[in-house]
Amino acid sequence: MREEKKWFSDHLIQRTVKALEGNGFKTILASDKNEALKEALQLIPEKAEVGIGGSVTVRELDLVSELSKRGNNVLETWSKKVTPEEDMAIRKGHLTCDVFITSSNAITEDGKLVNIDGMGNRVASMIFGPKKVIVIVGINKIVKDIHAGIERIRHTATPMNVKRMGGTTPCVIDVCDLENCQPPNRHCHVITIIEKIPTKTETTIILVKEELGF
Ligand code: SF4
Repeated sequence: MREEKKWFSDHLIQRTVKALEGNGFKTILASDKNEALKEALQLIPEKAEVGIGGSVTVRELDLVSELSKRGNNVLETWSKKVTPEEDMAIRKGHLTCDVFITSSNAITEDGKLVNIDGMGNRVASMIFGPKKVIVIVGINKIVKDIHAGIERIRHTATPMNVKRMGGTTPCVIDVCDLENCQPPNRHCHVITIIEKIPTKTETTIILVKEELGF
């Protein structure tokens, strides 16, 4: 990487970390996904029940298999076939687990987390219920402000997520079209902006100096 690019990226990361800490989030900087995995494993007690939200970032770290190997009870639905009833039970389990792990769709330079959900279970678990929340975020998710965060979600993250799930929303066919994107096809139903650390939820952000997830 050119020296100026590295300087700019370090500058952006430092500004974001400072803002996140100013908003009450404990923030850990990881140089790559291997270091992020190590940091996450250290934060999770060996006997903890761990909920994993819908996140490509977390899967890119291989965290699910590492936790399972270690003997943690992992609540997640991506690596196994589950019935609709089991799926619902796992999602509800995320609300009361010991540690909930997810990414954030966007993180602003002034230290806020911006997310959009279809069902809302992932964003609910980020706010209240689990004893501990760990949010793992790649550098590609840093945006200027809340508006840019929502734009990033509608024009970058959601089209790729819908494509991954085989959906046919306007953002997959062409671009986001809020008026003509309706349930049950639509994926964006709930927007959350976490401005400061939620009062009763210990939240740690692991910011990774490489691109991860959508
Ligand atoms: S509102 Fe619909 S078209 Fe827009 S990003 Fe969400 S799913 Fe895609």
